[in-house]
Amino acid sequence: MTKCYICEKGNLNKGKVDYKLHGVNLGKFDAEICDRCGETFFDEETSRKMTKTAKEEGLWKLEAETSVTQSGNSLAIRIPRKIAQFLNLRKGTLTRMHPEEDKLIIETLKDS
Ligand SMILES: [Zn+2]
Repeated sequence: MTKCYICEKGNLNKGKVDYKLHGVNLGKFDAEICDRCGETFFDEETSRKMTKTAKEEGLWKLEAETSVTQSGNSLAIRIPRKIAQFLNLRKGTLTRMHPEEDKLIIETLKDS
């Protein structure tokens, strides 16, 4: 049996795991799962399938780096078009923001 590449103590068992990206579950994919640390490994073919599925669902490359800018007396962050489209953000969309450790969480509020 193959030993885990991370903890080097556990054994790898074949199984299926959910692949989640940006909070969307893209389904179950073949994986090898460590019975000790729980780390999961995917072979090349499975990785290709996962990438393909993510692209088909419009979830590929939704991460972006952006600099904080100044807008009047406030600071502003530009939201890339791709992320805005994914979240259905428009000019005037109501949001609520709060810090969480070193992250800035921005929720969109549903119109009531
Ligand atoms: Zn392990």
